[in-house]
Amino acid sequence: MKTGVSASRYWNIGQCTIPIGKVTIIPSFCKGGDDCDDCIRFCPEKVLELGTVPNEKGFFPPILVNEGKCTVCGRCQLYCSENAIFVEKIGERTVTAEEIAIREEN
Ligand code: SF4
Ligand code: SF4
Repeated sequence: MKTGVSASRYWNIGQCTIPIGKVTIIPSFCKGGDDCDDCIRFCPEKVLELGTVPNEKGFFPPILVNEGKCTVCGRCQLYCSENAIFVEKIGERTVTAEEIAIREEN
């Protein structure tokens, strides 16, 4: 919700951190393609895209296109009915002023 007040006024740039994620996909478990793209649709950071290489069952597992943006929100893992995708926190990074500005626009 836009309030007209810039949230960046309340962020202490240089001290706010967010998690860094590592995403693991198990292609052989995945049913991606026409039947499923839940991990892609529910990822708020657009980390994933539908892959073009089929697995042995003819499904198309997602690929990582923006892993550096993963915030370990866990939605991909939560919504995958096949247990084909996992995420773990591997560190933290400082939020940039540009990222805050982008979030305020959306
Ligand atoms: S939600 Fe799971 S089964 Fe569906 S495309 Fe993603 S990894 Fe594959
Ligand atoms: S944990 Fe969240 S941000 Fe990271 S890939 Fe999954 S849905 Fe996207």
